Amino acid sequence: MTKVAALEATALAEEIGRWVLVESPSSDAAAVNRMADLAEDRLRAMGARIERQAGQGGCGDILIGRIAGQTEGPGILMLGHMDTVHPLGTLDGPLPLRREGDRLYGPGAYDMKGGNVLGFAALAHLLAQGRRPHLPVTVMMIPDEELGSPTSRDAIQAEAARAACALVLEPSGGGGALTVARHGMVRYHLRVDGLSAHAGAEHEKGVSAIREMAHQVLAIEALTDHARDFAVNIGLIQGGEFENSVPDRCEATIYARVPGPTEAEELRAALTALKPRHPKARLTLEPGLYRPPYEKTPEIQALFDLACACADDLGIPLNGERVAGGGSDGNFTAAVGLPTLDGLGVIGGGPHTHQEYALISSLEPRARLLTALLERIGTS
Ligand SMILES: [Zn+2]
Repeated sequence: MTKVAALEATALAEEIGRWVLVESPSSDAAAVNRMADLAEDRLRAMGARIERQAGQGGCGDILIGRIAGQTEGPGILMLGHMDTVHPLGTLDGPLPLRREGDRLYGPGAYDMKGGNVLGFAALAHLLAQGRRPHLPVTVMMIPDEELGSPTSRDAIQAEAARAACALVLEPSGGGGALTVARHGMVRYHLRVDGLSAHAGAEHEKGVSAIREMAHQVLAIEALTDHARDFAVNIGLIQGGEFENSVPDRCEATIYARVPGPTEAEELRAALTALKPRHPKARLTLEPGLYRPPYEKTPEIQALFDLACACADDLGIPLNGERVAGGGSDGNFTAAVGLPTLDGLGVIGGGPHTHQEYALISSLEPRARLLTALLERIGTS
């Protein structure tokens, strides 16, 4: 605790190692809860008021720690997720925890146990010196972000409604760029019903759901417009039961990156207007999990400007701002109008791969930047 509170690279890297050693794939509630136990322990050591909401739908618990500020009222929502995409056994297999030069490799070192540790360390550092964040801080640790936060979205938005701003500890962009906007991610499920028939004896009586889906896939993916950062992908498709049957059912998942609400609406309108090619085929469309676009506002600009001022004072290079391609829980807080600054975590690379690492040289400066933000947000 005291070592981490000192904000020193080796101590921070060791603490990230402790988090990484608790493997926590999203779909394993017990594993994510072991991660929550460690996080809760750290929050308790800071004197945080703990709330732990029991997991739902096979996901782990939501962990909340509340820390008083110098003032009362709406505070800072510090957001991170405890889950990773890596299955149990990754540590003993393709991605062992190890240090190579400036790189700390391990599942979640970059996305985003590293960021969580920095946020915790920034708070612990202030408190250990008898200082406090200016505004109260609510630390929120999410169990299912890598699944699209199906069981925590409501809780995140409820906290967002009472906060003054959100700081999201997701990985930093290249060279330390902060995230001020993110594309929305939209999912739909499309089902095609056809008519089955023996492919040898009565092929003419069948209506192939796979053939119908093939037409629909081409029409749907044609909505893609890379010039606008609008991408529509069908990455999952399933249909048919026997090679000698005309398939009567086919299902596909449509996953789209939408830069703004215009494209989200364009997609919705296009999908709901789809008509079957074959008069006897039937299409059923259902919306799936959705991350609304996170768009930069003047309030987000002000938060970013404050981060730049803090970084300047500390002599830390930031490398500007970025619009991130993937979604995060910041999409939910920004979409309800909460000024949200994301990408405050570690610099590194290889998210969602077996080459995931955090840059050890980024740890101390990033933690210091967070410390400065905690003290300065709400002072002017
Ligand atoms: Zn993440």
